Amino acid sequence: MPQDIDEALLTRVRETYARARSEQAIKALKRNGFEAAYAATPEEAVQKVLELIPEGASVGVGGTMTVRQLGLLSALTGKGHKVVHHWLPDLSPADGRRLRLEENASDAYLASANAVTLDGKLVNVDGTGNRVGGMLYGPKKVIIIAGYNKVVADFDQAIDRIRDIAAPMNAIRYASKTPCAATGVCNDCSSPERICNVTTVIDRCPKSADFTVLLVGAELGF
Ligand code: SF4
Repeated sequence: MPQDIDEALLTRVRETYARARSEQAIKALKRNGFEAAYAATPEEAVQKVLELIPEGASVGVGGTMTVRQLGLLSALTGKGHKVVHHWLPDLSPADGRRLRLEENASDAYLASANAVTLDGKLVNVDGTGNRVGGMLYGPKKVIIIAGYNKVVADFDQAIDRIRDIAAPMNAIRYASKTPCAATGVCNDCSSPERICNVTTVIDRCPKSADFTVLLVGAELGF
C-alpha cells in the first residue's frame, strides 16, 4: 500500500523507542539481580540465545509464540540440541503432561513473559502453570525473551496488558471457548476453558538458575 510518509522516519522512531524503553527495563532488571541484555533485531536475539546455551544442553521450551517466531526450535535442533516442547498436534493428555515435566527438567529453558516492567519485574498469567514452573525451578539456565511491545510501566499496566491483549489473543489462538475469544474483551470469566489461573510476579532473580532476560527491538508474541 502506498504511504504518504517517510518509511525511514517511522523505522527510526520505532527503533529508538524500542531501544530506549528496553534499556530502562534492563537497568532495573539488573538492579533486581537478573542478567539482562538487548538485541536490536530478531537475528541478533537468536545469535545471543545460541551463544548462551552450552553445547550439548537439552532445551525445554514452554508455551511461547515469541521463541517460535524467532525460529529458535529449528536453530537449536540444527546445532544438535535436544529440544523438548509440547506444542505438538494430537497430543494425548498423558503425553502433554510428560512433555511439560520433561521441559521443566531440561538443562536450559526458554520462554517469554507476558510483561516486563520498567521496575524490572516479570509478570505472567498462566492457565496450567507449567510455563512459570519452568522459570522458577528446575533448569539450570533460564532465558526469557520478550519483544519491546511487552515492556510496561509497572504491575498494574502488566495486568492490563495481559487482560486486554495477551490473554484474549492467546484464547483466540487456542480456540478456547471463553468470552474473550469471541469478543476480544476479558470479563473475568468462570469458563471451564479459562486460561487465566496462575498470576506470578518474579520480582528478583530466583536463586535456582542462571537467569537471563533478553529484550528485543521487534514486536514479538502477544
Ligand atoms: S479471564 Fe476468561 S475472559 Fe478473561 S482473558 Fe482470561 S480466559 Fe479470557
